Amino acid sequence: MESLIREWDGESMIIRFDRVAEAFIIIAVHSTRLGPAIGGTRMKQYPDLDSAVLDAQRLAGGMTYKWAASGLDAGGGKAVISLPSDLDPKMRDDLLRRYGAAVKQLNGLFLTGPDLGTTSEDMDVIAESGDPYIFCKSPDRGGTGNPGPLTALGVFTGIQAAAKQAFGEATPAGKRILVQGLGSVGQGLVKYLHKAGAEILISDVNKTIIQQFKEDFGFEIVPPDAVYDESCDIFAPCALGGILNQQTIPRLRCRAIAGAANNQLEVPEDSIRLKERQILYTPDFIANSGGIIGVISMETKGLTRKAAEEKIVRSITDNLSCIFKMASDEDITTDEAAKRLADERLK
Ligand code: NAD
Repeated sequence: MESLIREWDGESMIIRFDRVAEAFIIIAVHSTRLGPAIGGTRMKQYPDLDSAVLDAQRLAGGMTYKWAASGLDAGGGKAVISLPSDLDPKMRDDLLRRYGAAVKQLNGLFLTGPDLGTTSEDMDVIAESGDPYIFCKSPDRGGTGNPGPLTALGVFTGIQAAAKQAFGEATPAGKRILVQGLGSVGQGLVKYLHKAGAEILISDVNKTIIQQFKEDFGFEIVPPDAVYDESCDIFAPCALGGILNQQTIPRLRCRAIAGAANNQLEVPEDSIRLKERQILYTPDFIANSGGIIGVISMETKGLTRKAAEEKIVRSITDNLSCIFKMASDEDITTDEAAKRLADERLK
């Protein structure tokens, strides 16, 4: 654990043991160079404390890049609440309130919103003790609610940019697009794609959701274990991280990738594997930045939802045009180009 913390390139780690719930609260502040650290709160069970700390560190580092590339004045941070296997559901809200108090004690060093395992309703509870440092509360509590639909708009914009780069036209119309994961982002994404005239394939481990979308829209279903072998034009990972790796990349039968999942590449070298296979990779931290751009624009800059949506489209389109050009001009991976773009701003 000591080396995990010492060797990390971030600024500070706060690890707190909540004895009442027997949960660990981990707040990783990666960089405050551009502003206070802002990142979601992930709440789930981990096999051990090391895995939870590592997850917080990796996600916080990703947030630094995401904020820098999006041109907003915020730094990278992330919180993880590592739950015990037997947490009594009745203890959940009080744990969230104690977590809110811990965020407030940091006096604005770290601000947070929802992530995997937490919702806007949870933000309402956390805000009881954590305000004014909590984003995405429900609209009736003055927040912008679930950021998923804004993230979906950003991913749709990423798919349009990828289509332009790979096929010459910035439209998904007539393209065969496979969406992995029909959660909060995936559901919004398939609606945009459907409206734009794409041929849509869907995959999810949740059979009820899949069936509902098949009935409502007639989308083709791909079983979860067949996703990497399915022929399509664009693959949109909107479920899990680490799915682009040494095992899956050789199997892929798509021309481009653009999706919402965080940390899609298992290791950075996977971007080279994709380039070698001439598969255009849309860097995840650009494609999935719609939620943060929209939420910050509305909650701190007072933009209307319409103006925030326009900003999402403009920011992601401009960033990807610059990244694809840099990657092609300098013969580097798109992931490397995106990191350079963020690094330039951080410098
Ligand atoms: P979610 O939890 O609402 O949905 C995820 C969906 O993926 C669920 O329907 C789940 O059943 C499905 N799934 C899980 N394992 C699967 C598998 N092996 N194959 C197919 N489907 C599987 O999550 P979300 O909010 O829609 O986010 C999706 C991804 O995008 C996550 O990786 C998240 O971290 C990332 N992301 C989300 C946002 C946001 O605003 N919600 C912002 C940035 C990044």
